[in-house]
Amino acid sequence: MRIILLGPPGAGKGTQAKFISEKFGIPHISTGDIFMRNITEGTELGKKAKSFIDQGLLVPDEVTIDLVMNRLDQADVEEGYLLDGFPRTAYQGEVLCRMIRKGGQVLDAALLIDVPSSYIRERMPGRRICRFCGASYHLQFNPPEEVGLCDHCGHELAERRDDHAEAVEERLKVYEEQTMPLIEFFEKKKLLLRIDGTKEIEAVTREIFEKLSTLENHE
Ligand code: ADP
Ligand code: AMP
Repeated sequence: MRIILLGPPGAGKGTQAKFISEKFGIPHISTGDIFMRNITEGTELGKKAKSFIDQGLLVPDEVTIDLVMNRLDQADVEEGYLLDGFPRTAYQGEVLCRMIRKGGQVLDAALLIDVPSSYIRERMPGRRICRFCGASYHLQFNPPEEVGLCDHCGHELAERRDDHAEAVEERLKVYEEQTMPLIEFFEKKKLLLRIDGTKEIEAVTREIFEKLSTLENHE
């Protein structure tokens, strides 16, 4: 299965990606997580991405596309993958679809986790992440079992560098201007599955699994 996850920043893409990736046995590829890890490790890629991310802007297409194309060249994605946070511009969408076609493969679905901006502004201040394994928590809606520590790997949780109010507003604007056109793009291709992301995490997962299982039955 080849699936992409669309939705505004903070919609719950990373949260749901963990469940989808486990259920369907496909690798979860998050461009945001890859950039964040590279910033923490101080790599060349991290240096290129940092100032854009800190301002809430998108990392330029050429850098991001290069990163994803290299990742999709690896052996573990032959049977499928879940792309979280890519594509995010019309051009990224075109390049991805071209690459999939060229490889004689198909994209199964573009899952849109739909959440209005008012919910996003409320959620962001409470997000905590594990820099080690990328797991995402929420102080109120999805707290870890032990305060401040990751359930999966025990590392300390932290606020995300771009979750402050100013960057959140910029990211919402960027989403509206640069990423939302992809909704129509995938709708025209009859690949779009809309998910109500305002419900509780478990209810969102249920809706995703229900919609994906109808796809599986079609094959
Ligand atoms: P994204 O990957 O789309 O940026 P995350 O998965 O990191 O978003 O989720 C953003 C924040 O919202 C996290 O703190 C997460 O725990 C919380 N969250 C995710 N899904 C829900 C939900 N359905 N209801 C409430 N909070 C949620
Ligand atoms: P995310 O974790 O998906 O919210 O991504 C964090 C940040 O990484 C974004 O705000 C962007 O600056 C950058 N980023 C992630 N994915 C992309 C992408 N597909 N294109 C451009 N920038 C991206």
